[in-house]
Amino acid sequence: MTYKAPVKDMLFNIQHLAQIDQIARMPGFEDAGLETAQAVLEEAAKFNEGVLDPLNSEGDKNPSSFKDGVVTTTAGFKDAFRQFAEGGWQGLQHPAQYGGQGLPKTIGAACIEMVNSANMSFALCPLLSDGAIEALLTAGSDELKATYLDRLVSGEWTGTMNLTEPQAGSDLAMVRSRAEPQPDGSYKVFGTKIFITYGEHDMADNIVHLVLARVVGAPEGVKGISLFVVPKFMVNTDGSLGVRNDVHCVSIEHKMGIKASPTAVLQYGDHGGAVGYIVGQENRGLEYMFIMMNAARYAVGMQGIAIAERAYQKAAQFAKDRVQSRPVDGSISASAPIIHHPDVKRMLMTMRAYTEACRAMASVAAAAYDAAHHHPDADVRKQNASFYEYMVPLVKGYSTEMSLEVTSLGVQVHGGMGFIEETGAAQYYRDAKILTIYEGTTAIQANDLVGRKTARDGGQTPKAIAAKIEETEADLVKNGSADAVAVARRLKAARLAFVDVVNFVAGNTKASPNVVFAGSVPYLMLAGNLMAGWQLARSLLVAQDELARGNDVPFMAAKIITARFYADHLLSKAPGVRDSIVEGFESVTAMALESF
Ligand SMILES: Cc1cc2nc3c(=O)[nH]c(=O)nc-3n(C[C@H](O)[C@H](O)[C@H](O)COP(=O)(O)OP(=O)(O)OC[C@H]3O[C@@H](n4cnc5c(N)ncnc54)[C@H](O)[C@@H]3O)c2cc1C
Repeated sequence: MTYKAPVKDMLFNIQHLAQIDQIARMPGFEDAGLETAQAVLEEAAKFNEGVLDPLNSEGDKNPSSFKDGVVTTTAGFKDAFRQFAEGGWQGLQHPAQYGGQGLPKTIGAACIEMVNSANMSFALCPLLSDGAIEALLTAGSDELKATYLDRLVSGEWTGTMNLTEPQAGSDLAMVRSRAEPQPDGSYKVFGTKIFITYGEHDMADNIVHLVLARVVGAPEGVKGISLFVVPKFMVNTDGSLGVRNDVHCVSIEHKMGIKASPTAVLQYGDHGGAVGYIVGQENRGLEYMFIMMNAARYAVGMQGIAIAERAYQKAAQFAKDRVQSRPVDGSISASAPIIHHPDVKRMLMTMRAYTEACRAMASVAAAAYDAAHHHPDADVRKQNASFYEYMVPLVKGYSTEMSLEVTSLGVQVHGGMGFIEETGAAQYYRDAKILTIYEGTTAIQANDLVGRKTARDGGQTPKAIAAKIEETEADLVKNGSADAVAVARRLKAARLAFVDVVNFVAGNTKASPNVVFAGSVPYLMLAGNLMAGWQLARSLLVAQDELARGNDVPFMAAKIITARFYADHLLSKAPGVRDSIVEGFESVTAMALESF
């Protein structure tokens, strides 16, 4: 299939919802207006459609392979990565000081979506490099920054995140890898890391591993974890590559999806100790890793949107081609393309509405991130930071869960052919499944939402967001069109359900944690549904204005229909979810363990 980047929809969000003109007024983003966004997105579309998309199915059929400690990526990936690096795509959002382009996240996020739609397995490599760059920018010493950042930002080298160990997945308190301080200030790192994405590969000259380990004698639990840089090849003082470090890939996994992305087991220190350099201070590793994970969690949310978009495009094309059965309304007297059947349209609309809504939500979250870092007013920065922090588990959790539904519907639209690998619809479904697992499962996102993002401040942040949503409802009612009024009604019902749940969470987390955590994922899904639906409601208002001015009529008309569909069919589920959370917790926990 040929992927076509949804540049128009992305620019609509960037212009009207994320309000790029306001971001371009912030110090450091002066050149980042709508024109820049358009130029960058069009260029990105060309690259992703032309270079990465053609390798997507190839990577699924001929995954990366492992032999004698060496990982060979799918044919074409190495050259594609060279082109990716030469095009400056790795450095899009990173500071100009290290060779990046310093663009706002609002623009960068759309590019991340495109890379992931075009080829999710490939996109994981730069995604992990972004995480490593972020960690070094946050807490790395000047020396580490000078040694590693330019080469990571240029894409000459790539980065990894090494958290997981066989006994430590969601629970990082169980990390056992150890680090022994050396007289020269470096450390020797020992241990086994599993599931390390692009932990070994042939696409770049060096790999910069960011590794969680315990310094000998450190406290137990999360308070005793430190973060280290462990390069695959040592770096000489003149920047050239030196000897091989003592970190080796012992195998890669055979997976359900994202097959071209090598998932490595890495062994540290079997031959005397891997040389590592501390990032920041000892025992603060998890704190730094969280900063990096926030960036990565947002990016995984973008992966959900990306794979959903791809699945939607494929299904829509198939539905126009596949001829089967007469339409129920008799409009065609013979068998017709299946898109004429209302249920097929319902599936396509569901796919489209989810995807557009989550894209809109992510775009607005990205704008908040930009304002949180660049707005001149400290209060505005703070408000945007809380909003962004609240949105991260939703962008990650909701967009990835929705991508499973969307890719599953994508298979369904194809009928039996969807189950057959050669159509490609099944690959998206298989690829999407990892998104609800890595970078913290949906349950872990929900724990974050309940604990840090809701209960900690007594629900102040979500309630402040609810007040903004109420303003949108008022705008919709004022607008007065049938669509706007119908959407306002659904939005209001969903908001009231949300506020009920926020009060329930804020009021019970401490005293009755089981009662709240029984509904933590449903709360995340309700919050995500509302935030995404809210952004489509805002889109409807914009689209009606644009339509009235005669601008881009087919696009704006479609946006209104999509927003209405979302409100009628998806947002309308919110009150039921509220009931499950507030009134249904007992049946979640009641069953005796031995009855399972
Ligand atoms: C393809 C792939 C690539 C990966 N890439 C990387 C990488 O690059 N770097 C890296 O460090 N790791 C990576 N991982 C690891 C990944 O982040 C973990 O698999 C993930 O965090 C879940 O941990 P786990 O597999 O141990 O599952 P577990 O933690 O054992 O979870 C099992 C189940 O229990 C639930 N659960 C666990 N704890 C809680 C809790 N507190 N509350 C509620 N439910 C809970 C989970 O939600 C899940 O449903 C990758 C994994 C895969 C499969």
